[in-house]
Amino acid sequence: MKLPEFSEILIIGAGPGGLACALKLARLGRDVVILERKKQPGPKVCAGGITWDGLIKIVPEHLIERSFCDQHIYSRFQQTCVSAPDPIIATINRKTLGQWMASQATEAGAQLFTDVLVKNVSGHTVTVQTSTGKTHILNCSHLIGADGAHSVVRRSLNIPTVHIGPGINYQIPGQIEKMEWHLNTRAFGYGYGWIFPHKDSVSIGAYGPRGNMSGKMLKKSLINWAAKQGFTLEAHKCQAAMINYDYRGYAFDRTWLVGDAAGLASGLTGEGMYPAIVSGETVADKIIDPASSDSRILEMVKKQQQHHRVISLASRHPALCSLLMESLILMLKCRVINFHTLEMATDHRR
Ligand SMILES: Cc1cc2nc3c(=O)[nH]c(=O)nc-3n(C[C@H](O)[C@H](O)[C@H](O)COP(=O)(O)OP(=O)(O)OC[C@H]3O[C@@H](n4cnc5c(N)ncnc54)[C@H](O)[C@@H]3O)c2cc1C
Repeated sequence: MKLPEFSEILIIGAGPGGLACALKLARLGRDVVILERKKQPGPKVCAGGITWDGLIKIVPEHLIERSFCDQHIYSRFQQTCVSAPDPIIATINRKTLGQWMASQATEAGAQLFTDVLVKNVSGHTVTVQTSTGKTHILNCSHLIGADGAHSVVRRSLNIPTVHIGPGINYQIPGQIEKMEWHLNTRAFGYGYGWIFPHKDSVSIGAYGPRGNMSGKMLKKSLINWAAKQGFTLEAHKCQAAMINYDYRGYAFDRTWLVGDAAGLASGLTGEGMYPAIVSGETVADKIIDPASSDSRILEMVKKQQQHHRVISLASRHPALCSLLMESLILMLKCRVINFHTLEMATDHRR
């Protein structure tokens, strides 16, 4: 397949946001080209957690690795177990999810080019470098930045990114039964550590919003904390990436931002796959019909702002941070709040 010189809709990034957008548009017969810098779509630093109100009901069952009706949440001084009849969180493998989404989009008619790095964006003109080192220029009517936390499309719009935090993941072999969240302020400040079981491996990691601690410190803390939980992480590969939760809009005159490029992840939990897919689909709807509703993005932005308020409070003082984390667990324990408060999807059952 040869890279075209023009496409009606050009999507940069074959993550969940870009692929969800491509699928909707391609199914309606629109001319869609996706450019992805990696050799194959899918693999991404991630704990692979998806929620019941978010993606569990959307992705086919065979993609689910494990699912959990119980969530074990720990702070420094207490612990609780939140339970529900339906799985609260399930885990998926990002490579498997990405390849399934990519095959759906390409079967619908989208053209996916991998191993193509977008170097520069100027208006609706994009300069790319192919795997052979050749430079190629593409023009489009609609440009979609679905290119993650360090989006080149976002940069071309001069949109700053202030609220961005590091996430670290170790995927280690083994089988673990419990899904755990650790709001341990001594180890993670106002971030948290997790143990998310997959089918034959377990994701052990930590995330913290901006200003909490540097990526280097977070890694050190994670290694020390995990050792106390009985896991030796140093023997395994460490993967890290940033999570962007600095939302400043998604529509900019036929240039669109989705997912992490739009800063739509949660600053509190780092959840970003659901926001990526919802925003990708909303942008597709808007291109098809400019009068269509964007209420699903607006609902997420509201959730994101609630999460942001918790971070702002926690960041004021370490004592306030501890108090907040302990109160959060107490409120979950006493059912003053439920687990959905921490999710980006709106729980429409309430
Ligand atoms: C450690 C960690 C754990 C996480 N755990 C979870 C979790 O459990 N659940 C959850 O929901 N979220 C989690 N997230 C967040 C989640 O991974 C992201 O929010 C989500 O992947 C965003 O999707 P996206 O489609 O916007 O971007 P991405 O998935 O980042 O996809 C962007 C794509 O664009 C490509 N790209 C980037 N730049 C270019 C370029 N210049 N040219 C061509 N292609 C380019 C990239 O290669 C990539 O494939 C985690 C993140 C981290 C770092």
